[in-house]
Amino acid sequence: MIIVMKKDATVREISNVTARVEQSGRQVHLSEGEERAIVGVLGDGRPLDREQFERMGGVERIVPILSPYKLASRDFRPQDTIVALNGIKAGAEKVVIIAGPCAVESREQLLATARAVKEAGATVLRGGAYKPRSSPYSFQGMGPEGLKLLAQAREETGLLVVSEVISPEAVPLVSTYVDILQIGARNMQNYALLHAVGESQKPVLLKRGMMSTMEELLMSAEYILSHGNDRLMLCERGIRTFEKYTRNTLDINAVPMLKQLTHLPVFVDPSHGTGKWELVGPVSRAAIAAGADGLIIEVHPNPEEAMSDGGQSLKPERFARVMEELRAVAQAVGRTL
Ligand code: PEP
Ligand code: MN
Repeated sequence: MIIVMKKDATVREISNVTARVEQSGRQVHLSEGEERAIVGVLGDGRPLDREQFERMGGVERIVPILSPYKLASRDFRPQDTIVALNGIKAGAEKVVIIAGPCAVESREQLLATARAVKEAGATVLRGGAYKPRSSPYSFQGMGPEGLKLLAQAREETGLLVVSEVISPEAVPLVSTYVDILQIGARNMQNYALLHAVGESQKPVLLKRGMMSTMEELLMSAEYILSHGNDRLMLCERGIRTFEKYTRNTLDINAVPMLKQLTHLPVFVDPSHGTGKWELVGPVSRAAIAAGADGLIIEVHPNPEEAMSDGGQSLKPERFARVMEELRAVAQAVGRTL
């Protein structure tokens, strides 16, 4: 449940309430908004004496949260969360475009891509330095060298950078080079990793597992939020279905459904969601029309020679064309690009 304090509640009244919550063996998540304080009560589901809190000084009302996730829920925070990322805002009117190669392969490849996607209007550069591949014999990423190249590309272009982190031990290292930590689909339920990125206080892009429900995605988000890290963005990247013509089935439903269930920004990955570069443009348009706050798109200067995901990567000139088409859709739904 959450305890909504009165607008004029005193500091003493707020601390009396948080102390009482802690005495009951629950965790407190205090959110002090401009207007009023909200005390989130995080427990294990055992009922709490609601009336006891209703009678306390400074308390306006008690709101039960019925969903299994609390901090991620719209009941906890009815207004949209806007994630501030060094000059960029995710969840605001401007749709955030993240673009770049699946994997960092070389300085030339990364910088050529970075310059091209910036020119076309992207504000964040993607590029995996650690690749969680289905086969142990596939390219596993450049590791720390890849991270250094990402930092150089940021320096040269002014783009922010996002890269995947695949183990809790690597969180401090990856955090020193990137602006946003990406949690990939395969690690959505790696709880040790979720705790580590929660603790890091770095912005996080959390991708939906390929066999996970939206509720499971929101429960994973809860792990990160429970560490007080609320610079969190969710990403729909397609789920596994019986369909074989596309790599995954992009669950477009997830965009408006998640926007209803949670206050967090919702991104879409049309590259992994389809697995085919020809579908990236149309599906990106659908995502923005459905209310996505951002897109993450794979772009490679020479997709035929890409070390991973070439078949779903756009060439820079095609990416620029897709961006032009997206501008019109964004405008039609009251957004900018
Ligand atoms: C990626 O973004 O390159 C990636 C591996 O995505 P996912 O985790 O969604 O498969
Ligand atoms: Mn990829």
